[in-house]
This record gives sequence, structure tokens and C-alpha cells, in this order.
Amino acid sequence: MKKGVNLIVEINRQCNANCIYCPVPKDKRYLKVERFKALLEEHAPIKYLGLSGGEPFLHPHVDEILRVGRDIVKDGMVVIASNLAVAIDNNMLKTLKDNRIIVQISLPTLDAELYEKIMGLPRRYGIKALYNVKALDDAEVPFAVNVVLTKLNADMKGMEQIVKLCLAHKHCLGVRFHPMIAVREEHAEIAPPLDWEERLLLLQAMYGEIVNFPSKEGLREFITEGDGELYITEDLAVEKSLFHAYAK
Ligand code: SF4
Repeated sequence: MKKGVNLIVEINRQCNANCIYCPVPKDKRYLKVERFKALLEEHAPIKYLGLSGGEPFLHPHVDEILRVGRDIVKDGMVVIASNLAVAIDNNMLKTLKDNRIIVQISLPTLDAELYEKIMGLPRRYGIKALYNVKALDDAEVPFAVNVVLTKLNADMKGMEQIVKLCLAHKHCLGVRFHPMIAVREEHAEIAPPLDWEERLLLLQAMYGEIVNFPSKEGLREFITEGDGELYITEDLAVEKSLFHAYAK
């Protein structure tokens, strides 16, 4: 196993979406590239670097962030989380490919109406995200889909559609279903159904290891103890993370 820490860095707080389960307080701040570089150097060696936000592709110097990240992480994994409802041009596709970046796409549903309700974005942004999924695939950029499960999107048909989307793309690594963790009082109303684990086990039996998710026990530990990753925010507070990395 590679040596080094798992690091999640929140590089900005700006986001175009307004997800129903979002735990992030939004504002216009972003991490300066020099500060980002210094942080990575301080924590190296790093075996997993996750870039989170906000929406990280809205960071004004995200291309530089990706290059610096790859430079310091070397052979480790560099993952950028995104809702993909943003502009991804050919230069960005090339940066992602050249720097061996994995994109972790937040996509809760393929249903237009539900997309609007969950993401707080007009449905045309969902279509944009799907175009970007294809663009990533065509450019040979590996990606995974991350689905935050709530009672709104935990139906078998909807979950299957996302798995099929992944299967239809050569460079999709898998679909990670993660039950929503309530961080605000109003989240309790959209808590995932009690049988979420059974539903996901069924989905995994149908489609295999492309479907992955934490066990109930794993989720409990994750909530009470964190997962031992370093989590660095714009405020540079270092703490145990409640953010679950896609990496195994
Ligand atoms: S995409 Fe992420 S940061 Fe943006 S609103 Fe949704 S959960 Fe929050």
C-alpha cells in the first residue's frame, strides 16, 4: 500500500447549485494557489488528494490547482468533486487528462423535476452535466458518480438509471451511493428510507462491484468517529473529516 495521508482540501466556497442537503456555507472565498501549494508540501507524502468546494471548477485558478496537486502528489490519486453543471472546455479536459485527475460527479438523479428540487438548479444544468459526462468520457478522463441518497431519490428505478449511465461510459469507474448525513434540522425530513442498505445490496447483486456504498455499521463509525482524513478548509482549520473519500 502506498505511504502518505489522505487529504481533502476545500479550495473554494462558491457554488452554482443549492442542493437540498448541502452542508457547505457558501461565499466567494477561495484558496490562493501559493497557499494550496504550501499546504500540500507541509502534508506530503500524500496518497489521496480530494479537491472539494463549493464547486471546485469555479475556482478562478483551478487549472493551476490541478497541476500543482499532481506535481506534489506524484503517483497518488487526485480527485476533484463537481456537479459538472459548469463550463468544461477543451483546455480543461486536456488538463484533467494530462494530470491523471479523477472527476467525482455529484449527480443525485436523472429525473429533470427531481434534479431541480434536489440541486436547486434549472433542469438545463442537468443536461449540461450529462454533456460534460460524455465529454469526459470522449477525452478519456476517468470519473465516478457520487449519489447522496435521500428519501427523494432512493427509488430502485432512479438508482438503476444512474448505474446504467455509468455502464454506458467506458471511463466511468463506478457509482458511489452515500446516505445523506443530516447536518441541519430540516434534513431530517428527507432522511433516506430505513431499508436503504437492502436496496443497495439488491442493486449491487444486479450490477456488481460498479455499485458501492458504506455498510450501515461503516456509516455509523463514519459519523461518530470521522474517517481519519485531514480536512483543510479555506480557514485552514485542520480537523477530522466527516467527508467520505471515494478512494478505498
Ligand atoms: S454541489 Fe456541493 S457545494 Fe454545491 S450546493 Fe450541492 S452539495 Fe453544496
